[in-house]
Amino acid sequence: MQKLIMLKYGELTTKKGNIGLFLNTLKENIKISLKDIECDIHFDKGRMFIVSPSNDYEKIIKSLQNVFGIHEIAIVYELKANEIEKIGDSLLKLLENYEFKTFKVVTKRSDKKYPLTSMEISAKIGGILLKNIKDIKVDIHNPDIYVNVEIRNNATYLYFETIKGIGGYPVGVLGKGLLMLSGGIDSPVAGYMAIKRGVKLEAVYFESPPHTSVEAKNKVIALAQKLAVYNNNIKLHVINFTEIQEAIYKNIPHEYLITIMRRMMYRISAKIAANINGKILVNGESIGQVASQTLTSMRVINEVVKIPVIRPLACFDKLEIIEIAKKIETYETSILPYEDCCTIFVPEHPVINPDLKLCYEYEKLIPYEDLINKALKEQEIIKIGPEKANDFEDIL
Ligand code: ATP
Ligand code: MG
Repeated sequence: MQKLIMLKYGELTTKKGNIGLFLNTLKENIKISLKDIECDIHFDKGRMFIVSPSNDYEKIIKSLQNVFGIHEIAIVYELKANEIEKIGDSLLKLLENYEFKTFKVVTKRSDKKYPLTSMEISAKIGGILLKNIKDIKVDIHNPDIYVNVEIRNNATYLYFETIKGIGGYPVGVLGKGLLMLSGGIDSPVAGYMAIKRGVKLEAVYFESPPHTSVEAKNKVIALAQKLAVYNNNIKLHVINFTEIQEAIYKNIPHEYLITIMRRMMYRISAKIAANINGKILVNGESIGQVASQTLTSMRVINEVVKIPVIRPLACFDKLEIIEIAKKIETYETSILPYEDCCTIFVPEHPVINPDLKLCYEYEKLIPYEDLINKALKEQEIIKIGPEKANDFEDIL
């Protein structure tokens, strides 16, 4: 019997006619995640199978657990037959390696021409096991072992354990987005959540040297690398924001610093998104978290762009966000102390109900279009893969 991996995936409900795109994207993403391991990947009606001559299934499963779109992973044994006796014999052989007192047979039959129903098959196989293995009982509620039998057209698959995948949709199947990635706790979590919905991300980071340090930038690169694990890789657009920020600081009443600064960030992000064919912006804003995230602030800031802005954390509490940050292992990096450009230019009394008309007036005081174009022209683009994560951790 050949040992292989069987994957179950949740399909895109909005893309019923487009299962081909879904499956090919998932397959490509799996290939990228398993790029160091020799393997063959093929589909068969609602399932994907991976065979590897390396037999290092533990390593493969570890990688697959980071691939969005996979809902369940199982190591299965393929039997090129579907007769009850042969299935029973194979199961008896395989079960020699397992200790259990109670069991339940679960049968799925994608071969609808098979002469018995799933229930009948389970009953017959249960009978064979009871007859041949000493001191075991059926327990349908809480068995020590589930004996899974999946009868498909070309073969029967036997397995006893399933591992949960991370779910979501295959990265890229919904197109591209641009994540506004700061060194804080929120934006990497927001990015993770967008990737989970099938959005392939690029990221933008605004830095203000010399007010912000190289360490602050390396921290963002390290965070981007954590996201690259799920995103396959990630392009980080680094924008030098110093001139714009200094112009705002010199010319605009300080209570409006943050509001105007964020309007500039949005404008620049929308332009980058347009260049990369990004359909949405994604950021870590959460309603009410700070002065720039009151409803009025969000409206006044959002007003400068037409592109949809997705805020996966809009309605999350900070504690809920931290929990996810810990789970995806961005938290420890996010809480490193290096200040970013927002924290350095924070005024004592930021406006919480900014007035849009005043924003227009204040913005006339700086040549922001020229400054934005210059910043875009001078942007640095860093391509980041997941494998380098540790190198950058050393720099921090
Ligand atoms: P924290 O995660 O610590 O709450 P934050 O960065 O989420 O910080 P804000 O500074 O209010 O909180 O920013 C809100 C959002 O704006 C961020 O989640 C991020 O998406 C974006 N943003 C803020 N600063 C930057 C930056 N320097 N570069 C890119 N995006 C930024
Ligand atoms: Mg921040």
